[in-house]
Order: sequence, then structure tokens, then C-alpha cells
Amino acid sequence: MENINDIDVIVIGAGPSGLACAITCKKENKNVLVIERASKFGVKNMYGGAVYLESLKELLGNDYKNLSVDRIVKNHNWVILNNDNSLKVSYKNKDAKSSGIITRYSFDNFLAEYAKNLGVYFANETLVVDLIKKGNKIVGVKTDKGEEIYSKVTVISEGFNSVLAKKAGLKTKMKPNDAILGIKEVIRLDYETINQRFNLKENEGAIYEFFGGIKGDNTEPPLGMGFLYTYKNFVTVGVGISMKSLTDSKTKPYEYLERLKSNEFVSSLIKDGEVIEYSAHSIPETGYKMLPKLYCDGALLVGDAAGLVDSIHFEGTNLAIKSGMLAGQTAVIAIQKNDYSKNTLKIYKEMLFNSFVMDDLKTYKNVISVLYERKNSIFSYYLNKADEFFKLFTTADNKGKKQGYRKFIKAFFKDRPIKDLIVDVISFVKCVINAII
Ligand SMILES: Cc1cc2nc3c(=O)[nH]c(=O)nc-3n(C[C@H](O)[C@H](O)[C@H](O)COP(=O)(O)OP(=O)(O)OC[C@H]3O[C@@H](n4cnc5c(N)ncnc54)[C@H](O)[C@@H]3O)c2cc1C
Repeated sequence: MENINDIDVIVIGAGPSGLACAITCKKENKNVLVIERASKFGVKNMYGGAVYLESLKELLGNDYKNLSVDRIVKNHNWVILNNDNSLKVSYKNKDAKSSGIITRYSFDNFLAEYAKNLGVYFANETLVVDLIKKGNKIVGVKTDKGEEIYSKVTVISEGFNSVLAKKAGLKTKMKPNDAILGIKEVIRLDYETINQRFNLKENEGAIYEFFGGIKGDNTEPPLGMGFLYTYKNFVTVGVGISMKSLTDSKTKPYEYLERLKSNEFVSSLIKDGEVIEYSAHSIPETGYKMLPKLYCDGALLVGDAAGLVDSIHFEGTNLAIKSGMLAGQTAVIAIQKNDYSKNTLKIYKEMLFNSFVMDDLKTYKNVISVLYERKNSIFSYYLNKADEFFKLFTTADNKGKKQGYRKFIKAFFKDRPIKDLIVDVISFVKCVINAII
């Protein structure tokens, strides 16, 4: 590491949240040190594939245009899979330009290079093992190299495995309900095949979300879903499964992914592709209802470490960037006031609650608990019924349509206790009301 004295801000972790914080502080001429355990940026990090350009524009101004994405997302698809039947809703917006598909390696490196060029210091291949406290105040960090580095403000942007956030007293132990495990394969397909198979032109990109298709025979449906992103020369296909479902079912994570990949709809999209990478990473699911403490004397908590992920829209990088920026702005204010106490650092929480980050988490605050509570209805009963309805609607069996509809409606109310249907409706209405009020 370079010989660094007078560090204003230490940032732990060079993901999008930490790098956004470092860039924000450095733009205000503060001395910033980012400590990253990995030797190269992004290699420890994993996601599906889309970054959101508005957050980047806010962080970098017009320089955000220098980010070269593989594809711009123009095409969203939601697919219900039931055995080998499928029901697809597809939306193409040819003017869409709010999200781009890019590898984490390229994205994290782009941000890190930008920060380096501004003059941010980096210590790679260095693990922060502990926080230095003076009374209740965090005043620096200890690394695995035996160094003690002091700072005015410490920003904890360590991602999901919030070891240091717990040491700071900001977070408590997570429960299986609080996390999702994402498992993903990168599958090589050539550019022309991707464009042809997914009906894309030039650098247009597509995202698929799959509901169903991962349940085993005679087992409860897991709380989880599949995804697919089209890059330039490969696609990523993966599943996100709640830790609770994983522990309850004893099914291995990769078995869920294998089930998805062997579904006829999905297998036709990845046919003849070569698997070139396999990875797994966890996503916090704590959301608005179980927000940790976001600050303490001397330290701020940002990004995944603070549980700032909108898992309904698969958005995390943009919330990470915004929280990193707000933490950076707070650190700058604290340095100007020469006050690193909770009293000043609480500004971060106030700004976060006035931003889209908390607005979005609040919008979906009931959805996650409803998904857990109503798992069997949502991930099994209604998926089956949607399939049955479309089978009926598209089959010409000379039996008369009216008779078919009557049978369907009768079965709809017979196959599931009426009280369960009522609770489903109430839960759904509660989510909708919460989202709009
Ligand atoms: C399967 C999956 C799919 C996803 N898909 C998307 C998507 O398509 N779009 C989207 O926007 N978001 C997506 N996300 C979420 C997104 O990846 C995260 O929300 C985002 O990366 C959070 O950024 P962060 O900086 O807070 O944490 P991270 O990106 O996790 O970065 C944390 C950094 O800290 C480092 N670190 C950790 N501990 C230490 C330590 N003690 N010392 C030094 N360094 C340390 C790590 O090496 C890492 O570089 C997905 C996530 C998963 C798991």
C-alpha cells in the first residue's frame, strides 16, 4: 500500500456503493482510501446483468457516457413455466435507454479507474478484519496485513456478508428469511445467434424473468424465480432462491438451476451454448421493514450491507450508487463541520429517506412478506390455474366453450379453500394500496 497519512474517509469494499462514495468525496478534494479484499475489481462480485444509467449520470455527469455496455435493455419478458407449457408476456420499448447490460468486472473496473484518475487511493488484496474504536466512536480499521489506518469517517460498503457492520453494532445476525441465494451460469453463444434467437437488433438487449419451472416432483414450491440476461457474446441464466426454501427443502441450489435449464422454453434459448462460468452470491432481503442502523459515531453503512436492494425489480447497483453518493456527501459535511458524531452523520439517513432508494423500498415493503406467507398460492396454485386457463382457451375440443369456463371456475373455487382465496385477495390489495399511497 502507498504511504498514506491524513485519510479523511476510509471506504471498505470497492463495489458500486463504495466506489460511488469514494468518487463523491474525492470530487470535494477529500483524501479517500478504498480497501478491497480482491486483487482485481469486480472478481468477487456477481449479479444478473443490468446497470441503471440514471444513477451513473447523477454520479459522473456526462462522463457516464464513457461506460461501454454490451447491450441496452429494450426487451422485458415475464414467463410462467408449468412443466413444458409456457405463458409469456413480452414488452419491447425501442426507445428504452435506462439500463445497460454489462459484466460486473467491466462495470466495477470502469468506476474504479474513474476514481483512481480523480486521485482516490486504493489498497487491493487487503481485507479489513476489524474496526478501531475510541470509546463508542469508530476511528479507523485494522487490516489482515497488520496495519491500523485511521480516518475521520469510515464507510462500510462490504456488501452482503456484513461482518464489519455487525462489529460496528449496526446490524444483527440475519435469519434465513432475510436473504436470497443467487446461482448463475454464463453461457457462451455467438452474437448473431443471440440476436436471432431473442429477436434483437444490433446492441438491443433482453431480460427474462421466469416464474415456476424450478419445483421438484411432489415437493412444495420454493420461493424463488429464474432470470436470463443477454450480453453481446453470451447469456447469463440463473435462479434466486430464498435461503428459507433452501434450508427447508434440502434441495441443492444447483438442482434448481438445472431444473430451470432443462425446461423446454429455457433450454431452447440456451441450446448449443457452452457454460464458461458458474457463480453464486447472496442478496439481502431485509428491505424497508428490517432496515439496520445506518450510521453511528464515525461510520456510515451503504449498499447491500445496509440491505438496500429492490428485489422486485432486480435493482441493486443503482440503490448502492445512490446510497454511496449520499454517504459521501454526508462525510464531506461532517469534515467541514469537524463533527463525526451521530448528530451530524444522521444527515445520511435523512437524505436516504428523501431519495428514490427508500421510496422504492417502502413501495414494496409488504410484497416480500406476502410472497413468503402466500408462497404456495403464488408459486403453485395460480401458476397452475393460469396454465389451465390458457390450455382451455386455446383448445378446440368440440365440447362447447361455456361448459369449459364453468368447469374451470368451479374447480378454481373448489381446489382451494375459500378462506385462502380471501386471504390472497386481501394480501394482494394491501400490497397495491401500500404501493400507491
Ligand atoms: C444473483 C444476483 C443478481 C443480481 N442482479 C442485479 C442486476 O441485474 N442489476 C442490479 O442493479 N443489481 C443486481 N444485483 C444486486 C447488486 O449486485 C448489488 O445490489 C450491488 O452489487 C451492491 O453493491 P455494493 O457495493 O453494496 O456491494 P458489492 O457489490 O457486494 O461490493 C462489496 C465489495 O466489498 C468487498 N469486501 C467485502 N468485505 C470486505 C472487507 N472486509 N475488506 C475489504 N473488502 C471487502 C467485496 O470484495 C466487494 O468488492 C444482483 C445480485 C445478485 C446476487
